[in-house]
Amino acid sequence: MTNITFHGGVNDIGGNKFLVEDKGTKILMDFGMSFSDEGKFFSQFMNARTSNSLADYFELGILPKIPGLYRTDIAKHVGFGGDEATEINGVLLTHAHVDHCKYVSYLRPDIPIYCSEASKLIMQNYDETGNTDQYLTLKERFQIYTNKKGEISRAQGDPRKIQVFEDGKKFSIDSIEVEPLPVDHSLPGVDAFILHTSAGSIANTGDLRFHGRREKDTAKFVERCGESSLDLILCEGTRIAETQSMTEYDVETISTKIINETKELVICGYPIRDLDRLMSFYLAARLILVICILHLRINQLKFSFQEENGV
Ligand SMILES: [Zn+2]
Repeated sequence: MTNITFHGGVNDIGGNKFLVEDKGTKILMDFGMSFSDEGKFFSQFMNARTSNSLADYFELGILPKIPGLYRTDIAKHVGFGGDEATEINGVLLTHAHVDHCKYVSYLRPDIPIYCSEASKLIMQNYDETGNTDQYLTLKERFQIYTNKKGEISRAQGDPRKIQVFEDGKKFSIDSIEVEPLPVDHSLPGVDAFILHTSAGSIANTGDLRFHGRREKDTAKFVERCGESSLDLILCEGTRIAETQSMTEYDVETISTKIINETKELVICGYPIRDLDRLMSFYLAARLILVICILHLRINQLKFSFQEENGV
């Protein structure tokens, strides 16, 4: 028998934390932040207390009370065990948007995180540019060491077990076989999953879309679902009811037109890691540049012709 417990992501946008249990194997699909839950209690300058964050998140029902899941330093500090063995065999990440991965920072470093190479790099970027994020390396909050010379220093950091998978290449986490399949989204390195368990097959669509530059990836995933005799599909959707949607190519065309019709400076804004959108603006700007150069060249030729012919 296979069980799925939804610790987040139901009737919500993101915040996914799906616990799948099969023959003693326990895996979490995503461990993300719910914008609506955090928005109810916190704001930009008012967050969960740093050292007591787990106590705050438990009290407010934001994180599930699963023994052996959380980093030992904070779990011990708030009196939630810390010495017990973990029962979680791994965390499968669909992608590195915070509503799918934010709370990885709270996990024990010995729980393997399975993700794409791009997701790993994006999490590394969070670690290197953020203040407190600890996606790839955990730094113990309370541990202080004294070396032989009597010098005191903090722990250097404990790297998490990051297992990078290859798109389309199946792998196993104990009794569960995982098929990671790339899908189109506003971030690189996004995968949907098909899980083959002892009781049947489950698909998790991740944040897929059909209107970006990699729509063929999404179509392939749908095809693969059709071939897989699925018993269950876990599907994300914020615009499922909409019958029409603007594609990334439409954004590029409209941007080109706007730039062409604007005499002075054009400023654009977009989510920082949406490389598809960056590409749309880049291609629009490049096309305008090519048109400007062509105009300049034609004018130069006209001028030379007039000079040579004394017109
Ligand atoms: Zn997303």
